Amino acid sequence: MSVPPDLELTDAEKRLAIIVHPHPTLRRKSKPIMRVDDQLRDFIAQMLDLMYESKGVGLAANQVNLPLQLFVINPAGKRGEGEEMVFINPVLSRPKGSEEGEEGCLSLPGVYGEVVRAAEIDVEAFSHLGQRIKLRASGYLARILQHEFDHLQGTMFFDRMSPPKRAELADEIDEFEHDHEVRGSLGNLPTEEQWQAWVRKIETRYSPQA
Ligand code: ZN
Repeated sequence: MSVPPDLELTDAEKRLAIIVHPHPTLRRKSKPIMRVDDQLRDFIAQMLDLMYESKGVGLAANQVNLPLQLFVINPAGKRGEGEEMVFINPVLSRPKGSEEGEEGCLSLPGVYGEVVRAAEIDVEAFSHLGQRIKLRASGYLARILQHEFDHLQGTMFFDRMSPPKRAELADEIDEFEHDHEVRGSLGNLPTEEQWQAWVRKIETRYSPQA
């Protein structure tokens, strides 16, 4: 199936970069992926590169400005170590227990805080190779899955923190918001219209029925 000319991507659009809070795509509820093409496989490869370069253990598609239900993880955080996994259209279910642990986020570099997560959880998804994934996760893997799944719903880890713990991070988070405002006032951010056009293009290309 060929892509309509108006959904072709420019060379600049094909190069992904990590976006930081409070970029609006981080707050958008991601759309399910209805088609996997070579371009999407290339996006996934770039996401893995960016995750390893940034020393992360997970990266969601909307963190690279793609409002799609997709994330990549590797709990070992290093290429060639641990297990690299790609989750398309993931669904979480059957949470059990709760555990508090420290989290950070590549869209808020340098900011860390304690978040309560389910200790165990089921995940179902498809891989980029079309294979069905179904597993029960616990511990660190369960935490990563819940953090990345949250991204796809437009939720950031600090939204999950208790008010007193979140208040401790308020200054650091404010700094990111201030930087964003400055970049906007200097004309270094896409306009609302440009952002809407990008989101529409990606959603129409990969999630036409949604
Ligand atoms: Zn994150």
